[in-house]
Amino acid sequence: MGRIKCLIIGSGPAGYTAAIYAGRANLSPVVIEGTQPGGQLTTTTDIENFPGYPQGISGSDMMEDLRNQALRFGADIRRGMITSVDFSSAPYKLTIDAEKDIEADTIIIATGASAKYLGLEDENKYRGLGVSACATCDGFFYRRKVVAVVGGGDTACEEATYLSNLASKVYMIVRKDYLRASNIMQERVKSNPKIEILFNTQTEGLFGEEVLEGANLVRFKGEENEERFDIAIDGFFLAIGHKPNTDVFKPYIELNNEGYIITKGITSETNIPGIFAAGDVADTRYRQAIVAAGGGCKAAMDAEKYITENRL
Ligand code: NDP
Repeated sequence: MGRIKCLIIGSGPAGYTAAIYAGRANLSPVVIEGTQPGGQLTTTTDIENFPGYPQGISGSDMMEDLRNQALRFGADIRRGMITSVDFSSAPYKLTIDAEKDIEADTIIIATGASAKYLGLEDENKYRGLGVSACATCDGFFYRRKVVAVVGGGDTACEEATYLSNLASKVYMIVRKDYLRASNIMQERVKSNPKIEILFNTQTEGLFGEEVLEGANLVRFKGEENEERFDIAIDGFFLAIGHKPNTDVFKPYIELNNEGYIITKGITSETNIPGIFAAGDVADTRYRQAIVAAGGGCKAAMDAEKYITENRL
């Protein structure tokens, strides 16, 4: 591979949208897909809130469509992971799968964020069958059902509040004896009659014949008054935080305290000229496919402008 004009790292809605725009702008984009081609959306079931699909669409079908659209405009989509980078001077140097070195004039980082899971085997078993890490994506399927949200931060409170408008009952499973969330969010969940907060409680397992039917919980784990009990639930929502996939860029790219890439104003510019960020990797707030797609568009336009201005 010679020197790449526009390298896009990541294959979620941000990466593919950037590829569509960069392809149509004649930037000959190369997309490095990462370990999960299609990104987080391929793990969700139906997407009903992405404009343009009145009947909804499965996450994997939508990503296939986006991929095909990027291919149509000449994107060169490749398997692989970026394992190290040297952004100390342009053209920027990167290594794929610890063996192949490449160089790029512009880079769009769209590596996304990964929801954190507890690490229970049962979470994998029931993923898409009751286990979710996105209330906005999947909450609709739990209308008039009973769900649980794990976590005590702002995200957990927001997800619980959102779900309380759909579900008949929402448990919050909180490992400490207090919520970490801001006061206003705490008040909101505590005063909501549909939400029951289970403090000092941890999840030990999940059960169900084919789909999720309940959770095995333990209160005051390891203490004298330890108590095990089960709750019957149809949905189990993780809200224990997200981790942006930025470790490999850390030495060069400016990140905030939580590891998200800092972009300048309304642009997708990072602290390094010619390197841009789009999607969840730079989004501490919205984390929606449509927002990520918009970010990919912005990043490709910013890359094009940079290439023109620098006569690359
Ligand atoms: P946080 O890190 O704030 O909270 C994570 C929660 O999950 C904590 O209650 C934590 O428990 C719990 N947790 C973490 N790991 C485990 C585990 N293994 N088992 C059980 N519980 C666990 O993450 P959020 O995603 O809630 O928020 C991230 C940032 O985004 C925060 O700064 C937040 O304020 C901000 N935010 C703001 C919003 C707003 O202002 N509207 C909305 C959403 C997020 P413990 O407390 O015991 O560590």
